Amino acid sequence: MNEQNLFSRLRIVLIETSHPGNIGASARAMKNMGMTSLTLVNPIDFPSEKANFRAVSAADVVEKARVVADVDAAIADCELVIGTSARDRRIPWPLLDPRACAEKVVAEQRSGRKVAILFGRESRGLKNEELQKCHYHVNIPTGEGYSSLNLAMAVQVICYEILQASLQEQAETPASRSNQMPGTGIEAENWDMALATAQDMEHLFTHLEQTMIQVNFHDPENPRQLMTRLRRMLNRIRPDQMEVNILRGFLTAINKRCN
Ligand code: SAH
Repeated sequence: MNEQNLFSRLRIVLIETSHPGNIGASARAMKNMGMTSLTLVNPIDFPSEKANFRAVSAADVVEKARVVADVDAAIADCELVIGTSARDRRIPWPLLDPRACAEKVVAEQRSGRKVAILFGRESRGLKNEELQKCHYHVNIPTGEGYSSLNLAMAVQVICYEILQASLQEQAETPASRSNQMPGTGIEAENWDMALATAQDMEHLFTHLEQTMIQVNFHDPENPRQLMTRLRRMLNRIRPDQMEVNILRGFLTAINKRCN
């Protein structure tokens, strides 16, 4: 398999990037590592000559970039979503280091699943609501005094690790590879159903929230961390499409009872 095929299901997503130079430099970082699928969520200054200039021979990646209005559109069809973050958040999320992230991404690519990796704004990173759409967070270890990398440098580190992991995997025997479904001991590629996509999960969370409001379990005026915790739980499980359909059918039955 050549690199183009290997990473065709991997999408780098840059969210509300301010500086077009960072878009170009990220495209270059990607292409250097054999990746070409770039999605831009609501870029502040794009298209721009500065992006093409910084991309140098990766201007094709910039020109082919998909531009979308919000993060949901960027990740809708993805079965695995990973968010990069320089900071610890209040509610801890399943966390990977760049190497473990890379191994996971390579294993998912092998299983034919679509993966998105999200990168945040230069000024304030990813919003909590964006991080809560992710199955995993990844943090690049840094010196204590300064944890925030330049955006394109962060893209470089993550893409470098993915390329290294894929080169390493090509040298390994299939038997030594493992990518198990959480808590099951079953290899993800042997699971009997397609996994839920990010869009399936958003529909489920909306339906769940509405139903919990309907039965007065959840007060949207005083949400506390209820939805955050449910998001973390359900993303940790990585439900398949059948499981999501069962839950939504159950919620619909509750909705009907309450009408
Ligand atoms: N000031 C922001 C950092 C923005 S840096 C904050 O405190 O959150 C821009 C983006 O680069 C981040 O959103 C993240 O996607 C990536 N990034 C920067 N440093 C990183 C690190 N140490 N680990 C993982 N991603 C990082």
